[in-house]
Amino acid sequence: MKSGWYLGRLAGIKIYIHWTFLILLGWIMIAYYRQHNSVHEAMLGVGFIILLFVCVFLHELGHALMARRFKVTTKSITILPIGGLASMEKMPEKPLHELLVAIAGPLVNFVIAAVLYVYLHATGGFPTLEELQTMQGMSADKVVLNLFYANLILGLFNLVPAFPMDGGRILRSLLAMKMDKTRATDIAASIGRFLAVMFIFFGIFFDFWLVFIGIFIYLGAGAENAQQATRSLLEGVTVAAAMITDYKTLFPTDTIRKAADMLLRSQDNEFLVMDINNERAVGVLTRENIIKGLAESGPDTRVQEVMQRHLCEVTEEMPLEEVYRKMLTENIRVCPVYRGAELIGIIDQENIQELIMVLMARQRQGDNAMLAGI
Ligand SMILES: [Zn+2]
Repeated sequence: MKSGWYLGRLAGIKIYIHWTFLILLGWIMIAYYRQHNSVHEAMLGVGFIILLFVCVFLHELGHALMARRFKVTTKSITILPIGGLASMEKMPEKPLHELLVAIAGPLVNFVIAAVLYVYLHATGGFPTLEELQTMQGMSADKVVLNLFYANLILGLFNLVPAFPMDGGRILRSLLAMKMDKTRATDIAASIGRFLAVMFIFFGIFFDFWLVFIGIFIYLGAGAENAQQATRSLLEGVTVAAAMITDYKTLFPTDTIRKAADMLLRSQDNEFLVMDINNERAVGVLTRENIIKGLAESGPDTRVQEVMQRHLCEVTEEMPLEEVYRKMLTENIRVCPVYRGAELIGIIDQENIQELIMVLMARQRQGDNAMLAGI
């Protein structure tokens, strides 16, 4: 998530605040001010929210530091009005490791709650029932008390067994210890969707906030399911499986006219540009490059003037899932495939997607066969 302000780095992890978080702060400030007509109250209210989100951040940091133990790096943590988001490069493969990473977040909140509990107990900060009823407005003591409850709720709420909540991951990893991961994700996602619908339903009657959370969970379940399906389908599959060996190439000195002609007369939408010896790729020419070149400098423009020089180079035995993820995140459309120094083919996003569809169809057939086998 990029639409945020960069705050700094902690333990090598970039910290961002999403701009909508400021809306939340503004809203809290106005709400408290209108309720109590005092700047002091409004500041305490805002202070509480900021402390609360520090706890949310520590929760995410808990995930990130546990993930690091399993060699998974976290690029950034973003603070959103609905919580924190740690963008890890992936989830650890082993169910036990995923379980530990997922549980580390809520655990942080329970630890904070325990520390606050001890503090409140020692200072007599826990109000009696009568005191609670007569308590008005915010006070510094009440901030600590509220923070205690908030951490308890945060920890418990995140244990709700629905993606993308931590509880969903915990549930999935527990199931994955007994069955294959795709099946486990399927079941966990179904439970998550059911809970999401419940949230939305009850939210309409009781608290509109639940509706938002329900939608968030519903979307999260779908995304997790699709991602896991791709990951497990491509497990053990190498680049060679999705490689195209019948493709057309250009030379840097060719004209855009020739490229446009090839574009029209073939299925290919992007072309490798080869060096003079026709041995290594030196660039890629996409359909957009061709159109832009034609429009801006005419059909006699040389390919080398409009081609992309940034190349990804892969070898045939590289894991396809890793390459595909890189192509998606860096928006790379096509990569030349090498065996040693020899160019043996290309892979493009479209072809990988086709392979995924083929594998999916085959798997579905396999499922049917198993059902019929009972
Ligand atoms: Zn979490």
